[in-house]
Amino acid sequence: VGCAGTTSTGSYDDLETIADFCKQYSIWFHVDGAHGAPAAFSAHYKYLVKGIEQADSVVVDYHKMMMTPSLSTALIFKRGSDAY
Ligand SMILES: *Cc1c(COP(=O)(O)O)cnc(C)c1O
Repeated sequence: VGCAGTTSTGSYDDLETIADFCKQYSIWFHVDGAHGAPAAFSAHYKYLVKGIEQADSVVVDYHKMMMTPSLSTALIFKRGSDAY
């Protein structure tokens, strides 16, 4: 699991390095982007999530950085069939 934005400090893991490691050992690569994945939508901050596109799954909480008024979470899979 790569962390894209820790809740306590806001730090981001090096997702590209984790992705390479997972690929090398055939390990599922999940990104916890609950707090920070929306950085991908920012021209200024998207470098923080470089490598997130290699994840097998990503979780995003829209009620955090995207400030939706109600609790809203997405678990996104690279391959839709993996959702089952
Ligand atoms: C909020 C958060 C979660 C999940 O929280 P839920 O309230 O269960 O949606 C997971 N990881 C991080 C880094 C978070 O900030």
